[in-house]
Amino acid sequence: MYHHVKKLMYTVNVGEPDPQFGNMLLEQFGGANGELAAAMQYSIQGFNCEDTARKDLLMDIGTEELSHLEIVGALIRMHLKPMKSERGAAEADPLVAIAGGGGVSLVNSMGDAWTADYLKITGDLAVDLRSNIAAEARAKIVYERLIAFTGDAGTKEALQFLMTREITHMRAFSAALESMDKPPFSIGIIEPTPGLVDQYFNASTGESNEGESDLAGPWNKSNGLHVVQSDVVEAEGEQLNTEPYMPEPGTEVTSPADSTPVGENVGKKVTDKTERKPKRKAS
Ligand code: MN
Ligand code: MN
Repeated sequence: MYHHVKKLMYTVNVGEPDPQFGNMLLEQFGGANGELAAAMQYSIQGFNCEDTARKDLLMDIGTEELSHLEIVGALIRMHLKPMKSERGAAEADPLVAIAGGGGVSLVNSMGDAWTADYLKITGDLAVDLRSNIAAEARAKIVYERLIAFTGDAGTKEALQFLMTREITHMRAFSAALESMDKPPFSIGIIEPTPGLVDQYFNASTGESNEGESDLAGPWNKSNGLHVVQSDVVEAEGEQLNTEPYMPEPGTEVTSPADSTPVGENVGKKVTDKTERKPKRKAS
């Protein structure tokens, strides 16, 4: 059940309306990383979620994002107001001024219509929580950039509030993922192919303009990885293991809070993971 309260979550004060900035703010209204996208992503994930505790989390944050949408809408409306009467202001965004009468609608800063294609909803709770952590990071950086392009104190304060809440959400989603007690690279229920999963494939070779070749980093030797060469460069040594391997579904460590496996994997969920769970290093 939804209930609207005639009060903004954060009171918005705009000093000097800036129609061009109002147009930029549309990115957080009807854009890919905007508030409607966040509200819908978390709420629909919540509708799907069979884990009642984490469903509550998804509904809490999904609903808060709708309140953010309302705040952003109020900010945009104040900044766009001159478009209703001034030709110069209307030129900042003819689509908003002429088609929309200087009001907000569900478009991004370039006038592209909002789309459900923005949403990441997989039906696997652990995977969805990872998407949500990334979505909060994107929302945070968009707010940061908006803050950098306005000189209006009241606008900056409202954006600072909204930006801060995204970090709060990121913390909550991260805690929810950790509380599922899955090893960090355990996704779904089918185990990846042993050996192959450890191979970092050196697929980009040759020298850069600076004369460097094969710059190394932790990404090709950490988390159990080691480098293997492509046979197209006729290198010596180990190459990518392409031997067929068909593991039994239900071999990957999962969590009781995961969403239900589909198809032939129904009923294959691993529930006794006490033997499989790797010991955590004491910190
Ligand atoms: Mn938000
Ligand atoms: Mn958020």
